[in-house]
Amino acid sequence: MVGTEKGRVTPEVLQGLLGSIGDGVILTDQDERITFINPAAMRILGCEGENVRGMECMDVCRFIRIGSNRPYKDPLKKAMEGRSSVGLSRNVGIYRGSEPVYLSATCSPIVHIDGRVTGCSVILRDVSRMRRLERKIQRDHAYMRSVFTAAKVGLCVLDSDAAISDMNESAVEILDRSRQESVGMQFGDAFRCENSFISGCGHGHLCPRCPVRHNLETALADETYASEFTVTMHRFDDPEPVWLHIFLSQAVGEGARQIILALIDVSARKQREQALEEARERAEAASHAKGEFLANMSHEIRTPINGMNGMIDLALRTELTDEQKEFLTNAKQCSSDLLRIVSDILDFAKLDSGHMKLENIGFDLHETLEGVCTLYAKMAEHKGLTFTPPDLSNLPQFVVGDALRLRQILNNLLNNALKFTKKGGVSVKAAPGEQGSMHTLEITVRDTGIGIPEHAQKKLFQPFQQVDGSTTRRFGGTGLGLAIVKELMHRMGGGIDLYSIPGRGSAFSFWIPLVEAEGAETPAGRQTVFLAPTHASAPQPQAEKSPPDVSDIDDLLAYCEQKLEGDGNPAANDKK
Ligand code: ADP
Repeated sequence: MVGTEKGRVTPEVLQGLLGSIGDGVILTDQDERITFINPAAMRILGCEGENVRGMECMDVCRFIRIGSNRPYKDPLKKAMEGRSSVGLSRNVGIYRGSEPVYLSATCSPIVHIDGRVTGCSVILRDVSRMRRLERKIQRDHAYMRSVFTAAKVGLCVLDSDAAISDMNESAVEILDRSRQESVGMQFGDAFRCENSFISGCGHGHLCPRCPVRHNLETALADETYASEFTVTMHRFDDPEPVWLHIFLSQAVGEGARQIILALIDVSARKQREQALEEARERAEAASHAKGEFLANMSHEIRTPINGMNGMIDLALRTELTDEQKEFLTNAKQCSSDLLRIVSDILDFAKLDSGHMKLENIGFDLHETLEGVCTLYAKMAEHKGLTFTPPDLSNLPQFVVGDALRLRQILNNLLNNALKFTKKGGVSVKAAPGEQGSMHTLEITVRDTGIGIPEHAQKKLFQPFQQVDGSTTRRFGGTGLGLAIVKELMHRMGGGIDLYSIPGRGSAFSFWIPLVEAEGAETPAGRQTVFLAPTHASAPQPQAEKSPPDVSDIDDLLAYCEQKLEGDGNPAANDKK
């Protein structure tokens, strides 16, 4: 309870009041001897329990500069002499034992009513905690600054107008323009964004579509917005573009919003990607041109070979000696081999360049399989091999697909089966199957031939691959047949597997989607197409049908041409 004496505050009341406040209060006389000290001041100065009254204030309160430990000039004296309040400098305090105590203090002269200075009041506050916090903030700030400066990523700080307020060394390097010059500039202007060349960042006609503007404006509108994007910029004085990958984040610093852009120069990667893309385009164009060239050249080569074949056929039908017949038969075989090689190359080039169109129309599956198998059964017989044709009873007669290409696949597989089999036989199995929910036609061509070693099995479906170099010498061939089969299979939506044991034989098993058709739409002339076999020992397919009764050489020529152009070779039908 505060007591007053005739309206005046008594010393007891004053003492009671000063005793209860948190700040230290010391009163001295004009000789700086302590006349009053409150408990808070005793606690701050570490002299609780001691009788310090009458002692000189500077003996109880030894101000020093913490850090340098130099004594601090008596502020009480200064206050009394100057007749005005005096504060303490920063980092001034006392040592409480070995512990530094930072103090803030105000020393004010006590002036009597008659104008004399009768003493001094000292108001003390322990600010050690605040100073420690300040120093920690300073240390953190210095640490952050050194990280900011040393970061290998360009860091750019923008203010709430999206103008650059700070940037680190890496950003200066990327930009190639000093920090001082850049500060205050809009980001797009400093980095010479293409869109801001003429009218400045944010004012160009392309700026509304610029990712920099878009991201900055979204960030200004929403302080939680963060993003990453890639933009093309230009260094000061450098026509070469710089690709920057930018991470945008935001921070609230000293009351104002800061947009932080982390910049990674990805120009080298972009240039590599661009070079790769250009190389890929060039390679594609070259490959396309090569495909076109091959397709054209193969056609140009095939036409005269067809003419040669036709002429040899005509010559074989004239009166000849045995020797002449043998020469011509060999010549015919050679040109048939050549035709097959050219056809393979043509097909492969067409598949490779994407020029081969597959049909998807109804055809007679039974007739197609029987046609091919009849021919190869004869060839097998001729070679002393057995031939087991497929049981067609479970298969629909008419299906949708490309009969020509199905025959080409079978021709390739059967041709190989006979070529690489010396004894035993060849069999063909055909049955309906399923792949997931799809109905399929599954066909397996099996032989008891030389087989294929495991290491070679996968590579054989790649172009120009044979088991080894000696295969070409012994059996001929281009190494393209299986690559064509695999690509055709892929284009038809099917697949092929190979099972083989060296010395015991091989089985090529393929499947294609099976869709029943009402009837055959394939022109009759294309139902009996087959490839000219390569085996010297094989019977000539032309022998299967006797030539028409022709009295005229032109009719005979037309018949041979039709046989070679249309019947003889699926490739011949492509060039229509
Ligand atoms: P080509 O027969 O014209 O060389 P292919 O692509 O049809 O081309 O065949 C590639 C190679 O695969 C053949 O050279 C042969 O080494 C091997 N090959 C294919 N079919 C068989 C088979 N049925 N038996 C043994 N080897 C085979």
